[in-house]
Formats: sequence, C-alpha cells, structure tokens
Amino acid sequence: MKKVSVECRNICLSYGSTDVLKDINLKVEPGEFFALLGPSGSGKSTLLRLIAGFNHPRQGQLLIDGKDFAQVPPWDRNIGMVFQSYALWPHMTVWDNIAFGLVERRLPRAQIKQRVEAALDLVGLSAMAGRRPNQLSGGQQQRVALARTIVIEPQVLLLDEPLSNLDKNLRIQMRQELLSLQRRLGITTIFVTHDQEEAMTTADRMAILNHGTVQQIGTPTALFDFPDNHFVANFVGSMNILHAKIRDVDANTITIGLGQSPSICISRHQQADIPTSCLTPGTTVSANCRPHHIRIERQAPVDSVDRAWISGTVQSSEFLGEFTRYSIQTGSERITADHPHRAGQSVWPDGASVAVGIDIQQIRIMEASHD
Ligand code: ADP
Repeated sequence: MKKVSVECRNICLSYGSTDVLKDINLKVEPGEFFALLGPSGSGKSTLLRLIAGFNHPRQGQLLIDGKDFAQVPPWDRNIGMVFQSYALWPHMTVWDNIAFGLVERRLPRAQIKQRVEAALDLVGLSAMAGRRPNQLSGGQQQRVALARTIVIEPQVLLLDEPLSNLDKNLRIQMRQELLSLQRRLGITTIFVTHDQEEAMTTADRMAILNHGTVQQIGTPTALFDFPDNHFVANFVGSMNILHAKIRDVDANTITIGLGQSPSICISRHQQADIPTSCLTPGTTVSANCRPHHIRIERQAPVDSVDRAWISGTVQSSEFLGEFTRYSIQTGSERITADHPHRAGQSVWPDGASVAVGIDIQQIRIMEASHD
C-alpha cells in the first residue's frame, strides 16, 4: 500500500470563543511513527480527531498525501482510529469485532475471512477468535482494537492514548508490540500521549503541544538535547533552569557567571541557536542542565576542570533505585541532581553540606524565562 504524508497547515480550531488549536503546522512523513505529546488539555485529542474528520478547522488545511481533506467527512478518509476505550462491541466475538468494518463495506465473504485471519495472526490472537471482549485481558482487548482498525487497511493509523488503560508492565510490552506492528505494516501512524516516556521510546519524531500551540517538533533525542524553550526542556525530561549572567562573549566561547561560582567558559559549538540579543555582557540568561549531569561530592575536587562547583545544602532526597534524586539549595537556586546509586552507598541526609558539580559541556544557554 502507498505510504502517505499527513500535513497540517495553519490549522486553527475553536470551541465557541475558546481557541483550542492555534496555527498548527506540522508534517508527518510517509510511514512515520509520530507522537503528539503534551499535558492534559493541550489540544492533542482535538488535533487527532480533526485528522480523523470528527472535528473541522476554522482555518487552515489538512493535507493527506498532498490533497486537502479538511472538509471531507470521516468515512471518506482512509483513516483508522483506535480509541482510548477500545470501543469493542461487547456482545460480539473477537472475530466478529474484527470483521465488522469489512462486513459494513460489503466485502465478499472469502475476502473477509482471509483478511480477518491475517489480522488475527498479526496480533497473535488466532486462538481467541471465538471469545468475547470480557473474556480477554486488557492487552488482548487492545490487540483486538488494533486488529479491527488495521483490517480495513487504512493509509493512516491514529491512536488516542492507546496504552493508558493498561498497567505499567503491560504498557511497556504493548508499546514494543505496537512499534513492531507499525514497522511491519509501514502505515503512517500518529499517536497521542501525555506520557513522555511512551513518546520517547516509540516515536520517530514528535510534536510537543501546550495550550493548543506546537512548541517544538523533532526526534526524541533532538528535543531532549536541544529544547527550544523552557516548556519543552521541562516536559521532555527534567531540567534545572538556573539564573546566569553573560560576562563575556567571543567567537568560540561564552563566559557566564552562575551564583557564587567563578566564571564558567562554555563552548559556543555546544549551544543551539541563541538570539544574539542574549549574548551581550550583563544580560541575564538561563543556564540549563539536566539532573544527571550534576555530581555531588562532600567537597569540590581541587583538580576539576570539566565541572563548575557550587556549594549547597541537601533539602530532600528520593531514593529511586538506579539513582537518588536530590533537591539542593545553592544560594537562591534550588538544584535537582540525580546521583547514580551503588550497592551499600548511603544517601546524603537532609541538611548535609555538599558541593554540586555541573558538567560544563552539558550546560545549555537559553533566553531568560519571562514566565
Ligand atoms: P488533550 O487531548 O491534550 O488532553 P483536548 O484536545 O481534549 O486536550 O482538549 C483541548 C481543550 O479543548 C481543553 O481545554 C478542553 O477542555 C477543550 N475541549 C475539548 N473538547 C471540547 C468540546 N467539545 N467543547 C468545548 N471545549 C472542548
């Protein structure tokens, strides 16, 4: 089957006087597994339903394979959608649930049989074709919902929080299954989730939404390493956003001051684009670093060249197994640091005086927050 692209151009949608989608621009490439990630209420489901044809934009174009579908009803789009609730028919067997869309389309019996068998095989449920949904586990119901959608051979697959009804272990297993199924079928797939781990582990690329606007689009690693703004920095992983002052700038180096630490020289090459207006000496910027790039010691080592050391006091700690997450007060800033755990190692107690070492190469300069 032909792989198609899905493109939103300047899409705006309002409910009454409330603007829910504001000038959405994004392009999902043919065969791509694309996630819409954002907090609850950010407009993800509204956008997905718009692509499915249940919502219509007030303005803008929805292009599928280059053709505008914004005003085309759902049944005339070759799109399959899996709902959060699965929406299986409780009184029908697995077989009949999967065959339903094909029967409605009045396909010949032999073809229905062949396609349902193939779909059952694809999701590994051939042995359960005679069961009803209430005789299946959550993961199996999820697979029936997928099989029922895939069997109609859509060009685009839309998934609305498809894993959120499953418990944690099953969710991890199912997201791998989902990805491998998507890879085998090669269907352009758009997946809505509020769970950043789910998006990061499955998506080729993702769009981060907040308040109905796209904040940034990119691969999981690009968004994690080079977030465009504070929202993305904190939504894709956690980020320390520290106040800093530009002290000096030359062709290769930006020198900043961070609290009581001596000047820190940062290579310009490790930075994403920073507006030149930020790079005037005296300007307040934010210096961002991830908690796992911060080390904690009793005292700053004397020979440390790759880290900037600040003294602080442990405010609280959470032991999370692989690491302990500390909250440390340093001057007026609260820093979060993830300290890798080794067997037998004790946790720094609250109130302990420590030195916090920030990996200089991992500091990203950004415009100061106006929030
Ligand atoms: P998400 O999927 O990111 O949680 P939604 O797309 O469901 O967000 O909702 C985006 C915003 O639109 C929310 O503020 C929600 O309250 C509002 N909204 C969603 N559906 C409707 C509706 N039918 N009428 C009015 N407002 C709605």
